[in-house]
Formats: sequence, C-alpha cells, structure tokens
Amino acid sequence: MANFCQQCGGPLQPGDTVCPACGTVIPGNDPYQQQYQQPPYQQQYQQPGYQPPYPGGVDDRPVKSKLAAGLFGILLGGIGIHKFYMGKIGMGVLYVLFAWCGIPAIIGLIEGILYLCMSDAEFENKFGVRVR
Ligand SMILES: [Zn+2]
Repeated sequence: MANFCQQCGGPLQPGDTVCPACGTVIPGNDPYQQQYQQPPYQQQYQQPGYQPPYPGGVDDRPVKSKLAAGLFGILLGGIGIHKFYMGKIGMGVLYVLFAWCGIPAIIGLIEGILYLCMSDAEFENKFGVRVR
C-alpha cells in the first residue's frame, strides 16, 4: 500500500483516497474499499475444487423423522412400513412378501431400535435424509 503520493511524493494517511497535498486520487489506498473488492467468502467460492455443502446451496434431502421411522420399524416392521417411510420401496416390498413367516417383524423391530439409537448424523448419512 502506497504511503506516499505517486504524483508529488507527499505523505498519505492510511485511508486517504485523495492526496491532501496535490489532490491526486490515490487508487487502492482505501482499506474499506479493498475489503469490499475482495470479500473473503467470495474467494472461498472461487477456489478451484471448492464444493458448496449442497448442490445449488440448497439442502434438498427429504426430511424424515427418526422417531417415526423407529416406531414404524418396531410396531409395523413386519410389513416393512419403516422401509416404505424411508423411501426404500424395494426393501418394503420384500418385507411384505415375507411377512407371512414373521421374520420381517423381528428384523423391523431390531432396525427400529437401531434407528432410535443412532445419532441424527448417522441416520442422515445412512439414508441420505435430513432429520427433523
Ligand atoms: Zn500528491
């Protein structure tokens, strides 16, 4: 940053945009102006390889209740309701097909308990949803 006027060589105070001695406009001597010209957040987005947390900056993952998924698994897991709720339609159909033998009810019960024991972050990562 120039602290002397390029025209007359007179001393400049930080923040002077015009030389007090000769009136020459001093480009780039205004700290506030420089700050606005290169905001840090803009640099962050301009860095190569930088990925915003969500595409388009919007978290468009479906919102699911962990409690609801857990209760569905425990109470209605025998017909795969928790799978349908979480959008795993194919898995839900399998649960329905094997509902007659009772095994899906046991698996659903275990899965329901697991859901409720998971942290929100684990649940979100496992199913690609947002916990509410
Ligand atoms: Zn000057």
